[in-house]
Amino acid sequence: MESRPVSRDTYGGYRARLVETLRAQGIRDLAVLRAVSTTPRHLFVPEAVRHRAYEDAALPIGNGQTISQPFTQARYLETLELKGNERVLEIGTGSGYQTALLGALVSQVFSIERVRALAETAQAALKAAGVGNASLLVGDGTLGWSAYAPYHAILVAAGGPEVPPPLLEQLAPRGRMIIPLGVHGAQTLTLVRRTAAGVETMEIGKARFVPLVGEHGFDA
Ligand code: SAH
Repeated sequence: MESRPVSRDTYGGYRARLVETLRAQGIRDLAVLRAVSTTPRHLFVPEAVRHRAYEDAALPIGNGQTISQPFTQARYLETLELKGNERVLEIGTGSGYQTALLGALVSQVFSIERVRALAETAQAALKAAGVGNASLLVGDGTLGWSAYAPYHAILVAAGGPEVPPPLLEQLAPRGRMIIPLGVHGAQTLTLVRRTAAGVETMEIGKARFVPLVGEHGFDA
């Protein structure tokens, strides 16, 4: 009897389609597209929504939080203009998916999540996905993580009222930070750059992120 080889990665085809969707929507950074094509998003979403893991959609991950839409995350990463040798700080680990994408793009990732249960699930998913260059911390990310500062790039995945001063202090010269700023449910994606002349900010577009909760964020 004839037998067909069983695919080792049943999700590979879905992932390739997601990459095509992102390309069609204007994502050009090849390293970012490659990271999406190799990162198993299905390992970062709950069982109940696993069949939707490769839709270009935000999905619930529990604790009232969501894993962002892949397009938003790809756009975010593209804006950071990563070259590959950076040390990056991420605020809001959530599912850990974006942490994994960063892990594929740079040399070291430090990520802070305030909800312990999410951080633990993310830690397990990162291990299952074979991501070995990401360190997680449970705590208030608006205070940054001074032990490993300065960071070449900082990615804030929750929307705050202002740029948390500790994050600015922990951003390396010529470093780039991306953060949604505004009120609950309506923010402006903002790029903050540290230049020789000081700090430059640039508005990139509208965004809807969950609130950044902490000392330099919103109240819980
Ligand atoms: N990028 C994530 C989604 C993040 S959702 C992913 O790929 O799944 C935003 C996350 O920020 C939530 O998990 C929320 O708990 C967390 N968060 C909000 N305020 C925070 C803070 N001050 N410090 C750390 N994490 C915070």
